[in-house]
Amino acid sequence: MIVTGDYHTHTKYSKNLHAKHTILQMVEFADDLGLNSLGISDHGPKHLFFGIKKSNIDKARQQIDQINSSKKYNVKVLMGIEANLIGKDGTIDLNQEQISKLDNLLVGFHKGAKNNIYSFFRSIFNPKKQIEINTNAYINCLNKYNVTILTHINDYIKVDVFKVASEAKKHGTLIELNNKHLNFTKEQAEDLVKSGCNFILSSDAHKKQSIARLENVLKFIETYNIPLERIVNVDKLFK
Ligand SMILES: [Zn+2]
Ligand SMILES: [Zn+2]
Repeated sequence: MIVTGDYHTHTKYSKNLHAKHTILQMVEFADDLGLNSLGISDHGPKHLFFGIKKSNIDKARQQIDQINSSKKYNVKVLMGIEANLIGKDGTIDLNQEQISKLDNLLVGFHKGAKNNIYSFFRSIFNPKKQIEINTNAYINCLNKYNVTILTHINDYIKVDVFKVASEAKKHGTLIELNNKHLNFTKEQAEDLVKSGCNFILSSDAHKKQSIARLENVLKFIETYNIPLERIVNVDKLFK
């Protein structure tokens, strides 16, 4: 296995059957794969279709603590949420109390979330302005919260990749290379390298069989010479 852990995976706690398996089923599979760590990261509560129910944040935390303390598995389980970026000022859909329960805070933009930074008309008629708003929202978010990972930047909405990645580097936030949502031009891939940011590779698995599946990401890394020493979850055997 080229990676030591997968930090972006969804479970049944993402509403409406968005993902297929329970936390325990995901853990058993990751353990069989031989991963050191598995990060659970269901959608933030303001995602209109798939958001985690607020009461399930506590339930997930308890289950993860129980699994870790049972010592039944070698894989360490980490509790995260893929929070939604919902404000131009960088606001996300978790409060401080909810954030304090997490091991990892992931932040991503999703059009299905209640949000006010994406405008269909602006992105068609004034795409530059839309990119500026999006980029500033990410930068504000990084200044407001202690974000562990920015998920799939530049996928659902466009950003200035160099600016966002440079800001992430400043805060020690990881830029995700997502196996399902990898949307960078050649220039943007070069900007990622130039920014000096660190990376994390993730599957964004919505079923256990997809955990640590990274074929698209691995191709991307090779094509654009992403330095392996800047990827935090590549096994040192490969570095
Ligand atoms: Zn996402
Ligand atoms: Zn996701």
